[in-house]
Amino acid sequence: MTNTLTEPRLIGHFIQGSTVQETQDELLDRRAPGTDEVVSRVLRGSGHDVDQAVQAARTAFDTGTWQHAPGMERYKLLNRVADLIDQNAARLAQLDAEESGKPIVLAEGDIAGAAGLWRYAASLALNIQGKSFTSNGPDFTGLVLREPIGVTGLIIPWNFPALILSQKLPFALAAGCTAVVKPSEFTSSSALEIARLTAEAGFPEGVVNVVVGDGPTGGAISEHRDVDLVSFTGSTATGRKVVAASAGNMKKLSLELGGKAANIVFNDADLEDAAAGVVFGVNFNNGECCVSQPRLLVQEDVADQFIAEVAKRTAQLKVGQPLDRASDVGALIHAGHLDHVSSFVEGASQHGGEVIVGGERLTGGEYGNGQFIAPTIIANVTAQAPAFQDEIFGPVLTVTKFKTQAEAIALANSVEYGLANSVWSKNTDTLLETAKALQSGTVYANTTIDGIPQMPFGGYKASGVGREMGEAGFEEFTELKSVNIRTGKRAGTFPIPASLAGGASVPQMTPRD
Ligand code: NAD
Repeated sequence: MTNTLTEPRLIGHFIQGSTVQETQDELLDRRAPGTDEVVSRVLRGSGHDVDQAVQAARTAFDTGTWQHAPGMERYKLLNRVADLIDQNAARLAQLDAEESGKPIVLAEGDIAGAAGLWRYAASLALNIQGKSFTSNGPDFTGLVLREPIGVTGLIIPWNFPALILSQKLPFALAAGCTAVVKPSEFTSSSALEIARLTAEAGFPEGVVNVVVGDGPTGGAISEHRDVDLVSFTGSTATGRKVVAASAGNMKKLSLELGGKAANIVFNDADLEDAAAGVVFGVNFNNGECCVSQPRLLVQEDVADQFIAEVAKRTAQLKVGQPLDRASDVGALIHAGHLDHVSSFVEGASQHGGEVIVGGERLTGGEYGNGQFIAPTIIANVTAQAPAFQDEIFGPVLTVTKFKTQAEAIALANSVEYGLANSVWSKNTDTLLETAKALQSGTVYANTTIDGIPQMPFGGYKASGVGREMGEAGFEEFTELKSVNIRTGKRAGTFPIPASLAGGASVPQMTPRD
């Protein structure tokens, strides 16, 4: 096991190609979740810092160097960043694991995934397309141009620091936008490192900027009138604040918010495979994952046998220090969040639930003063219980039995969120019927948390607006411009727009003599 780095790191901003550490800003101490030791001190970005960063991004956009850079040039630079992420993978993974509390092995997976996202986004820079319309007579040509939207504000949560940054930043850059990134105050280090890598790769100054800080820093970006789009990932509660703050200049929003996925296990599923998937789906990333699957819905006639298998596998998980390669589950992000997660365990019995595995906080010995909880299963949870409805965001599985497919679908859809769900059955009709009826942006069939950058990702209902990744995610960073072109020798004659006349033959308006 590696221990934490010795001296706390000072985390400053990155504006106009340089690191900014000499400011009047307050400092926020970041305590490592695994040890409770201060590992970094983060500047609390002020409105002035945000102004400076937005100004740098605006100038870089308006000069046009980046927005009009040939696709091949963008492709090369984005790929160069991907290579630099690979070369710096060990350090980036250590920073993310130490600050977020996730197991180091998962942090390494995040960094590999991040490099892949920069490569995929690079490919999109080669293929920016609009449309043309030539079907309205010989004198009309309609062009639909796809243009970069401008200055983007990218607000990142703490659960996948480098990975979620990479679901946004390279896509914005591929489209020709410039960016002001705000990482979470709990996990700022890797964003700073990646910003420096973009400079090393050769991105022009001002195209990538980072302002570190907490809620008010994010608020200043959301309300800034010179920011054209905010792409936000975080809780639904904060997302609502971003919506309100964005109204001043009606900026475009892309919101990736909370989730409360269900794992629906039918009686004809491969039960051993499904049990492994259920345990992975709720405990992956300490359960601090938006597509984590904290609600098990299991068909009544196989429920007892299935719950026993899931319980056995859960009890075998190794909770340990984030930097220990043997840990399956690490430390939760901070003490307040551990209290939040524990409150659902402590309140379970008030709603008829029964804790059948785990539930206890782990302290002393290898856990020291860290924020650890044993992976937990609460049985007999009703659809009305807070543990069923609210985002727990920890390694806590609730179990609810169902009789029919219709009942399972109704239970899965009975929460305000709609990010992801899983279905387990050997019958493809059951899988497809259920997938179509689920109100979520993603459905996993006979699998759990999975995906490729080519597929769009996002939420129904209170889980968000817009999509990330895939072509749809890339298009969020663009505007469409319709250019209506009249050609031919018809000076002074303007047809009534065909669209207003429903495409029918229309009279001409000719100026009087
Ligand atoms: P959070 O909402 O507390 O914070 C997210 C980011 O917003 C942070 O950078 C934070 O500093 C900033 N912020 C806080 N207040 C703000 C404000 N008023 N205006 C603008 N920015 C503000 O979320 P979190 O605790 O960092 O992350 C966990 C949440 O994120 C969970 O709800 C999880 O489901 C969600 N999440 C969603 C996805 C997705 O893709 N849908 C992915 C990961 C996490």
